[in-house]
Amino acid sequence: MKRDTRIIHSGRSDEGDGLVNPAIKRASTVLAPSTSELYEPTGSRRHYGRGGIAPNKELRDAIRGLYDADHCALAPSGLASVVLAIRTALKGPGVALISDGVYGPVRRFCDEELPRLGVKPVYYDPRIGAGITSLITSDTALIALESPSSLTLEIQDAPAIASAARAAGVPTVIDDTWTAGVLMNPLEMGVDYAAQALTKYVGGHSDFLMGSVAARGEAAKRLADREKLYGLHVSPDDAFLALRGLRTLPLRLERAEAASLEIARRLEAHPKVSRVLHPALPSHPDHALYARDFSGAAGCFSFVLKGVSAREGEAIVDSLKLFGIGFSWGGYESLALSCDRQIRRTALPWKAEGALLRLSIGLEDVEDLWADLEQALARI
Ligand SMILES: *Cc1c(COP(=O)(O)O)cnc(C)c1O
Repeated sequence: MKRDTRIIHSGRSDEGDGLVNPAIKRASTVLAPSTSELYEPTGSRRHYGRGGIAPNKELRDAIRGLYDADHCALAPSGLASVVLAIRTALKGPGVALISDGVYGPVRRFCDEELPRLGVKPVYYDPRIGAGITSLITSDTALIALESPSSLTLEIQDAPAIASAARAAGVPTVIDDTWTAGVLMNPLEMGVDYAAQALTKYVGGHSDFLMGSVAARGEAAKRLADREKLYGLHVSPDDAFLALRGLRTLPLRLERAEAASLEIARRLEAHPKVSRVLHPALPSHPDHALYARDFSGAAGCFSFVLKGVSAREGEAIVDSLKLFGIGFSWGGYESLALSCDRQIRRTALPWKAEGALLRLSIGLEDVEDLWADLEQALARI
């Protein structure tokens, strides 16, 4: 079956009751018919609710299918899923090579928590590609990627980095939230653990937080084990929302790609914009990698305003009427964010000709969104 058919037909109710959607089962205690059944449940009977029953199981199955993975773990937020992937991949102390473009709270975890585990975070240029080999030593404990980077949208050469890591026996983790698990498959490229915030495109409606990690083979076994060890659980009500969001994901992504590209092209032609960081634009420095590895684009991208200070950039965001000001992306509503206050770089300083703004294009009419952007840019 092709991808879109699988998304519709996976994770459906298997109770034979005719319902299209699996029921929400809320449970901690699951009563057993006997003590022996309690301690050694036979068949598929669960003996406790931690880890989730339904539709958590169906959601895991569906996301496992997206990545063609052997296990999918669910975590209570996207951040928790990246942390779970990193903790699972790490086998001991050493040096963790982390992309300089990772999501801010992941960077904070790496800076504050990894040293307590005897792991030193070292940041590398997201565009390092096969050059990662020069940083790998016998001490390298992990390589973490995020592609594209959250704010600055560099595309990483995931196949080259994964293959260098494999050759050295180093585990790899990627945050692939932007692709929603459908626009590229990092596991196919040799990455060991693929984490994403289901909060974003899979959810699609800005009404819950959740994350997933997918892995194959030995990595999948480690992942299933760690997920249990840490007691991770997500609410079945939220799992239901994630599964519901998944059904329309390809449709929403197609619309996000088309609308964001239309707005990106108009911004590129706007006299007050110096650069548009949208990987699907031929002008994007990593467009060739994008064209090679991705089957499409999401609706979240950034742009640089020519000679506009960070403060003026914030004032422009504040003057938008239709775009909301807020964190996150991938919802049905469009959002704008001034990025300059959050950018942290240590491998290579972030250099730009002006303020960096990020947009998440929602499902409104493109002409209304463009009119809003035009009136805000006219204030410069
Ligand atoms: C939002 C986001 C996360 C964190 O997801 P939460 O569900 O908000 O914790 C992690 N990585 C990326 C790239 C994100 O955009």
